[in-house]
Amino acid sequence: MTAFNPADFRRHFPALADAGVYLDSAATTLKPTAVIEATQQFYSHGAGTVHRSQFAAARALTDKYEQARERVARLLNAPLAHNIVWTRGTTEAINLVAQGYFRPRLQPGDEILVSEAEHHANLVPWLMVAAQTGAKVVKWPLGKDLLPENAALPSLLSSRTKVLALGQMSNVTGGCPDIAHAIALAHRAGAKVMIDGAQGVVHEPADVQQLDIDFYAFSAHKLYGPMGIGALYGKTSLLAEMQPWQGGGKMLTSVSFDGFSPQPVPWRFEAGTPNVAGVIGLSAALGWLDDVDLPAAESWSRGLADLAEERLSLLPGFRSYRASRSSLLSFDIAGAHHSDVVTLLAESGIALRAGQHCAQPLIQALGVSGTLRASFAPYNTLNDVEALVKGMTTALELLGD
Ligand code: PMP
Repeated sequence: MTAFNPADFRRHFPALADAGVYLDSAATTLKPTAVIEATQQFYSHGAGTVHRSQFAAARALTDKYEQARERVARLLNAPLAHNIVWTRGTTEAINLVAQGYFRPRLQPGDEILVSEAEHHANLVPWLMVAAQTGAKVVKWPLGKDLLPENAALPSLLSSRTKVLALGQMSNVTGGCPDIAHAIALAHRAGAKVMIDGAQGVVHEPADVQQLDIDFYAFSAHKLYGPMGIGALYGKTSLLAEMQPWQGGGKMLTSVSFDGFSPQPVPWRFEAGTPNVAGVIGLSAALGWLDDVDLPAAESWSRGLADLAEERLSLLPGFRSYRASRSSLLSFDIAGAHHSDVVTLLAESGIALRAGQHCAQPLIQALGVSGTLRASFAPYNTLNDVEALVKGMTTALELLGD
């Protein structure tokens, strides 16, 4: 594929045959054949594990595993493959940073600035490390445009602020804050920045050098890859100062009852037998994505969300919680409970998500008990939008009866 063609793109996703109208790609994307085949190939023909054995199959596997790290480094424009640490996903990456980098450094009186738009994965690890160290989690509130309010940021940052935790894209509103601006201000105050790229990476992988990002996390499963694997990017100097969080096999060079010497970065952060199939699947996803015109694909799915918003806005009581023109549309209907609506939509074969989306503070700030969320991907079609509108109309008629 050189230019984007939605019909061609769909052919790569066998699950579309069974998934019905799949509008839940923000939860997890469907997987292309390239990823399925690479994973199957690993389990069918692979032998051994990585970084442990001398036989040829295991050595070949280790090469593939480390080449995948280089691929992720290229995706994010990281200076070195060694800036990439394998994790189970975004959640584990943020916990690793909170515990490995910040826990030994935070003191009572220090502040952790967290935007009100964050997923629980970029809030709870900070609440935990705050409770462990006596530091305080400070809220960067949402503004009227449903993005963390830019005007409030300078007065929230001070020499007490040790870290700013910010999402590249909200999983509820689709809002994409100006992370370059926030990073510059945070750095001026002397704070480090943790960017949660879980939602953003599939739309526009961050250039970590250009944006001067300290830590960046993402999950493969939201980028057409397997579940249970993700990555943390960290600046070389910061990873060098970060302490291993989990101990075990292969994260050390020597150990006795008096202590251990850790491996170099990044292996010191990867204790135990890793998710080799996951790494290989992620690498296949990135290889496959090399041939996709991402901006064109993005513009297709964004156009579908625009159309859905336009069509659904004709329904009485429709309210949109869409912050930016993204491929994600959160909405509700005044007087209809989101969980009733989503149940009726599910009966019509339409898969979307309803509720609080693991972002309770944001939902509270929106002043609702939850929303419906239709998240579009480049494999969705105009027919999917029509099905959603029809399903919503029928659901509201049934609820009105
Ligand atoms: N942050 C955001 C914005 C997310 O949408 C998600 C997944 N819903 C996460 C973090 C956590 O990702 P994972 O569950 O893959 O660790």
